[in-house]
Amino acid sequence: MSKQILILGGGYGGVLTAQTARKYMSASDASITIVNRFPTHQIITELHRLAGGTIAEKAVSLPLAKLVGSNDVNIIVDSVKEIKPNEKKVVLEGGSVQSYDYLVVALGSETNYFGIPGLEENSFVLKSVADANRIREHVEARLDAYKKSGNKADATIVVGGGGLTGVELVGEFADKLPEVCRSKGIDFNDVSLYCVEAAPAVLPIFPKVLIDRAVESLSKRGVTFITGVAITEATKTSVTLKDGNVINSSTIIWTGGVKGNPVVGSSGLAEDRGRSTVTSTLQSTSHPEVFLAGDCAVVFPEGSERPFPPTAQLAWQMGETVGYNLSVLIKGGVMDKFSPVFSGTLGSLGRKDAVGTIGGSGTQLKGLPATLMKEASNVRYLSHIHGLFALAY
Ligand code: NAD
Repeated sequence: MSKQILILGGGYGGVLTAQTARKYMSASDASITIVNRFPTHQIITELHRLAGGTIAEKAVSLPLAKLVGSNDVNIIVDSVKEIKPNEKKVVLEGGSVQSYDYLVVALGSETNYFGIPGLEENSFVLKSVADANRIREHVEARLDAYKKSGNKADATIVVGGGGLTGVELVGEFADKLPEVCRSKGIDFNDVSLYCVEAAPAVLPIFPKVLIDRAVESLSKRGVTFITGVAITEATKTSVTLKDGNVINSSTIIWTGGVKGNPVVGSSGLAEDRGRSTVTSTLQSTSHPEVFLAGDCAVVFPEGSERPFPPTAQLAWQMGETVGYNLSVLIKGGVMDKFSPVFSGTLGSLGRKDAVGTIGGSGTQLKGLPATLMKEASNVRYLSHIHGLFALAY
C-alpha cells in the first residue's frame, strides 16, 4: 500500500522536499501532502523589497498549486496546532487530524523578542508577504499623517537589529522613500531612518571591509546607524535604548533574531533549545520516521559545536536530502548524509548596491557585481523550483 508522507510547511525546506520526493517516487509509492498556512510559497529572502515597495507581491508569492500541485502533491491550507509523534498524528488549527507514515517538519523559525517590554505588541516583523505589505502600508500612512500634523515621530522609522534582514530592509527604504516622499510633497530630509544594533557592528557575518562599505553606502543615502546599544523597550510611538536615549517613532520594525518554532519545541521530538536534533540523514534523533528540514532543525557540522545558521540556502539543501532519503526508506537504497555546499552570502543595500562573499574561498564582492550576483541567486532558486513558470500566473 502506498505510504503517506505529510510535510509541514511550504517554505524552502517543504517545497524542496516535495519536489525531490516526487522526482524519485510516483503516486503509487507514496501520497504526499503539504500543510502550509498560506496557499503560496513565499520567497522570504526578497520580502524587504516588497516592504520597501520596489517589487510586486506576485514576485515573492508563488501559488503552491502551480509549484507542486501538478506533481500529485496534495495541499492543505491550514496552520499546525500540535504534532503528536508518538501517535503519528498532526492536529491542525482548522480542527482536522492528519495521520502519516513519514512526517517532514519544515515549519521555519519565529521572531525572537527576547522578552523586551512592549516590543511584540508595538513592532512590525518581516516574516511573510502579509508582514511586508503591512510595513509598506503603515510607512505610507505615517508619512501621510506627518504631512498633515508635522509630528516628527510619523516621519521616523526605526529598524531594530542590524543583521541581514535589518540592513537589507533599510537599504530598500533608503532607495524608495525619496520617491515616496516626492509623490506626497514631503522633503525626504525630514525623514529619519535608523538601524539600531546591539552588537558593536552591523552585519557581523561579513569581514570588516564589507561592513564598512555597507555602512558608508547606506549612510550616504540617509540611514543613521546606532551600534553597540540594545533596544530595551518599545511603545507605539517610541523606542528606548540601553543608554537611556529615546527615539520617538511611530514605525518600529523588529529584525533582532529568530528562535525555534514553538510547535516543534513542544512536540516531544528530541530538541535543543527549541530546535529539533537530527541525525546526519536529517531524521529526528528520537523519532526516525520524522525528518526535519530548515530552521526548525539544529544541525552541527561534523566536529563543530556551533550549528549551521538558519538560512534559506541550507533549508533548500536539507529539503533535497530529505526528499531523497524518504524515497530510500520507501523504495530501498542508501540514505544520503546531509553535507551542505555553501555558495556564499550576499546582502543587498537597495536596488543598486550589495556586499557579499561567494564560494568556499569567501571571495569578496561589492557594488554592481554583488548586486548582479544577488539577483542571479534569486533567479537561480526560482528556476530550480520551476518558479519562473509559477510567477506567470
Ligand atoms: P540575525 O540574528 O542574523 O540578526 C539580528 C541582529 O539583531 C543581531 O545582529 C543582533 O545583535 C541584533 N539584536 C538582537 N537584540 C537586539 C536589541 N535588543 N537591540 C538591537 N539589536 C539587537 O537575524 P536576521 O537578520 O533576521 O537573520 C536570520 C538568519 O537569516 C541569519 O542566519 C541570516 O544570515 C539569514 N538571512 C540571510 C539573508 C541573505 O542571505 N541575504 C537575508 C536575511 C536573513
